Amino acid sequence: MTTDQQPEINREEMQVDIICTGFGPATGGFLTTLSRALIKEDGSPAFDSKAMPGMPPQVICYERADDIGFGVSGIVSKARSIRASFPDFDPTAIPMTHEVTEEKVVYLLDPIGASRRSWLVKLGDLFIKAFKWLLPYKDMAMELPWIPPFLQKHDGIITSMGQFSQWVGGQLMMSGAVQIWPSTPVAKPLIEDNKVTGVRLADQGTDKDGNPDVGFTAGMDIKAALTVVGDGPVGVVGRDLDKHFGLPEGNHIRDWAVGMKMVIDLPDGCELKPGTVIHTLGYPEPEIFGFMYVYPDGIASLGVFVPSWFDNPMRSTYRYMQHWIQHPYLWKHIEGGTIRSWGAKSLQEAGRRGEPFLVGDGYARIGEGSGTTNVLTNSGVDEAWESGVQLAEAVKELLAEDKPFTKENLDATYVKRRRESWLDKESKIAQHARDGFQKGFVSGMITTALVGMSKGKLFIPFKAKRPHDRVPTPEEYYKGRISAEEIDRIRKECQAKGLTMHDQLMEKVGWPEIKNDGQLLISHQDMLLMGGKIQATGSYADHVTFDDPETCKNCETLICAEICSGQAITPDPEGGVAFDREKCVYCGACIWSCSEANKDDPEHSNVNFRSGAGGLHSAEN
Ligand SMILES: Cc1cc2nc3c(=O)[nH]c(=O)nc-3n(C[C@H](O)[C@H](O)[C@H](O)COP(=O)(O)OP(=O)(O)OC[C@H]3O[C@@H](n4cnc5c(N)ncnc54)[C@H](O)[C@@H]3O)c2cc1C
Ligand code: SF4
Ligand code: SF4
Repeated sequence: MTTDQQPEINREEMQVDIICTGFGPATGGFLTTLSRALIKEDGSPAFDSKAMPGMPPQVICYERADDIGFGVSGIVSKARSIRASFPDFDPTAIPMTHEVTEEKVVYLLDPIGASRRSWLVKLGDLFIKAFKWLLPYKDMAMELPWIPPFLQKHDGIITSMGQFSQWVGGQLMMSGAVQIWPSTPVAKPLIEDNKVTGVRLADQGTDKDGNPDVGFTAGMDIKAALTVVGDGPVGVVGRDLDKHFGLPEGNHIRDWAVGMKMVIDLPDGCELKPGTVIHTLGYPEPEIFGFMYVYPDGIASLGVFVPSWFDNPMRSTYRYMQHWIQHPYLWKHIEGGTIRSWGAKSLQEAGRRGEPFLVGDGYARIGEGSGTTNVLTNSGVDEAWESGVQLAEAVKELLAEDKPFTKENLDATYVKRRRESWLDKESKIAQHARDGFQKGFVSGMITTALVGMSKGKLFIPFKAKRPHDRVPTPEEYYKGRISAEEIDRIRKECQAKGLTMHDQLMEKVGWPEIKNDGQLLISHQDMLLMGGKIQATGSYADHVTFDDPETCKNCETLICAEICSGQAITPDPEGGVAFDREKCVYCGACIWSCSEANKDDPEHSNVNFRSGAGGLHSAEN
């Protein structure tokens, strides 16, 4: 058995021309642009396939999730590149999509006194309260009177990732020029002498450890002249390439966030207009940002981001989202509404600083995994799409000139286009925007404002720490508020029962118990069923494993379990943690939230994350 859980056996092989891993906006942009160039108007091939001579180039995309519409995102986007791809773009053609009509950035004060605020934040809160009659203050919140240009999204759209992907995918499949295969996880890239020659698909019919079991089907090796890596922030193909080739000098992927969202039916009489965009900061903890986008037909998408610089081992995104929606500023709009859907996913927040080697012999990287996300403007979808468009233009050029997909040729076509584009220019401006959060919320806000207002010229340089180097133990975090003895008692009690600690610890420092109402406030387990509509396809190996079980047994935080969006990781009464793949929503938060360094690779944590099918089943997220 190899370390990637696949047995060493002879595998069937298939040859195509271009493989894409993952169907997100990046691959959507790539395939939309390329598919239009592959077949001439008279139906004959515009280029000849090397894999199947006489046919147009064979382009196949493998998507891990069980449907191409099961992605998770907000989305508010200026959609510049998306609109350029569809000159007649009509937002009303896509369900749950609308033009932006109103934008608000809102600072939320703490209405219950449980949030952990520094003295500077408390001072700011006092100031707001003292002058509230002068300020745009209501419902324990202050609407910013002016939105900095770098955050503005006017002329943009709000949409649902699921609906948008279905719309794009539908057009691609109708074109007949490319194939998209959902429910087909890619296990790893195939690398021969530093050249990527294709991918291996995941084995099916295995036990949890990857050993052949009843109905074993070995994942095929799919060989191609070009592998397009668009598998997002935590995709295994991108991360394997990072491991193999390393990152360019000075780059790192140390900044992360998990975004958790729900889609709700707003109550009758809700006054929010379709197209309304609300961004919040300040509550439930200052580091946790929130968003609410109002779709047509009384539907809204709302959620929070818990970042890796939130130095709290009790990073329960779900619980924090429940407190956030109950803030009076939001609750007055949504009380009486009902959940339709729910989801969670990681964001790579290092942006351009996390850019890997964009191309090599036989491969090219696009989308968030290639560092496209703009961490100043908080946008990733249009940027990912644009990178896909640029790669497609480069591929068209190379096909037309019958040149191979070597590093040199991809550099001269794709990387060149990217470096000359608005994508690169804006990502350079943004690259230091999040640095200040390494030192706290206030310095984070100051640095973001400095970078934004000076167009990247001014910033305060703070070195990014590895997430596992900065997260404190519960004893350190709750010092002076809960005694070490009490924390240890709770830890032992929870471990014995297989429960996480955050509910008990948060309630001890003043967070009120959540009173489930069966509509917006429901238990995490019910949310997995009602909103996430989780269903795991059996017979794949466990995709979350813990490299050194002894490290887990001695771990004081079990933060992987505390943050786990699906309650798939739980404390194991025998010590350490247990994983239940049926509940995993593939958010990837456990990868970067583990508090211990990997023994063999201190840049990474003790969590090993592979690929498998299943996960969220909702096309509304
Ligand atoms: C809650 C939330 C809110 C957000 N809000 C906004 C917003 O308002 N505006 C904005 O612009 N951006 C937003 N983003 C960011 C945006 O969603 C991403 O930047 C964007 O989706 C990146 O696109 P991508 O194509 O690179 O990757 P992804 O969208 O991550 O797509 C990658 C695809 O690859 C698949 N995949 C992964 N591994 C494998 C494998 N091994 N085999 C096969 N398939 C695989 C995944 O299932 C996925 O479908 C938000 C993100 C989140 C989580
Ligand atoms: S995976 Fe990391 S956080 Fe989780 S128990 Fe193991 S060492 Fe601790
Ligand atoms: S186990 Fe799955 S659901 Fe839990 S944090 Fe990891 S990826 Fe997310």
